[in-house]
Amino acid sequence: MTKVPLLDLTAQYATLRNEIRAAIDRVCDSQRFILGPEVEAFEAEVADYCGVRHAVGMSSGTDALLAALMAIGVGPGDEVITTAYSFFASAAVIVRTGARPVFVDIEPESFNMDARAAADMITPRTRAIIPVHLYGRMAEMYPLTEAARKHGITVIEDAAQALSARDADGRMAGALGNMGCFSFFPTKNLGGFGDGGMTVTDDDVQAGMLRVIRMQGGAPKYHHKVVGGNFRLDALQAAVLRVKLPHLDRWSKKRRANAERYRALFAEAGLTDRVRLPEDVPGHVYNQFVIRVPERDALRNHLTEKGIGTEIYYPIPLHLQECFKELGYKKGDFPVAEALARHSLALPIFPELTDEQQAYVVQAIGEGLG
Ligand SMILES: *Cc1c(COP(=O)(O)O)cnc(C)c1O
Repeated sequence: MTKVPLLDLTAQYATLRNEIRAAIDRVCDSQRFILGPEVEAFEAEVADYCGVRHAVGMSSGTDALLAALMAIGVGPGDEVITTAYSFFASAAVIVRTGARPVFVDIEPESFNMDARAAADMITPRTRAIIPVHLYGRMAEMYPLTEAARKHGITVIEDAAQALSARDADGRMAGALGNMGCFSFFPTKNLGGFGDGGMTVTDDDVQAGMLRVIRMQGGAPKYHHKVVGGNFRLDALQAAVLRVKLPHLDRWSKKRRANAERYRALFAEAGLTDRVRLPEDVPGHVYNQFVIRVPERDALRNHLTEKGIGTEIYYPIPLHLQECFKELGYKKGDFPVAEALARHSLALPIFPELTDEQQAYVVQAIGEGLG
């Protein structure tokens, strides 16, 4: 029996049900399903929210990243630097362009790519760097953007987990690099009713290219100077997301408040020497609340028995994925990422999580660790 699911979307839907159904009806009545006024309005709202000039709706976060790489013409012979520890898509999009991913280890506290190590990996073949704001905490951007400017390299933020996150200076995730990519997969902080994504940029030329790339590369229609894809965002997704966007900051605040409460509960239970909690940094929006415990797998089994949903993000670092074997990486290359793959465990953190549920989770962890 599930007592505390990892994520419960039903509570959020209940509060917005009528508004969302009216938005869906509006699209049904219009019979305009691909791009169109809903998508244009949503793009303008996201651009405004992030403080950027352009937002281009995409079919998913993966396609938002792929289109960003395609828009700058990344291809065979090129290198793209990214983290060794992320969701698979962060690296897969690089391989799909024909370029080579160059992995960098993460920092043990932030779970994010070591920005200085990344800057050191720049070669004459490097075309882009993809920092990932993992779990909703922003990666350190200044050393990257500085190095990238010096070498004429594009920075593409994988902000799939980080819409609404800010850095120490209050700047929005996605707005710091040359391009920023978001996902509206249902488990993200702003989740649609299916797949969806967005690429944002301040660059007029790149924005124009992104719009061409998402429509098969035709400009004008049926005249192709480049090969693109079908990366368009649906009007139905845009209509749903437009209802949700005004609530995003409030939801992110609740996630932060839940993280705060976990910290208090773990401290009260005397567990802070057994369990490493995510650092409290301003602007972290906790798409995931990921703890580190050496006895992770046994603890996870115990929590499952107690009806508590958990997940491992991610059990295999990118450099050890079988499909990337030809890149020549081996076990031991990125020890921090490899240790986290063994020790990380995501706990429920969704905005509607109750005090009682959190207390139950921490109590169960205390029992599980004995
Ligand atoms: C979810 C996610 C993606 C991909 O987004 P989709 O919408 O699922 O295609 C890419 N990168 C990271 C870090 C993600 O969490």
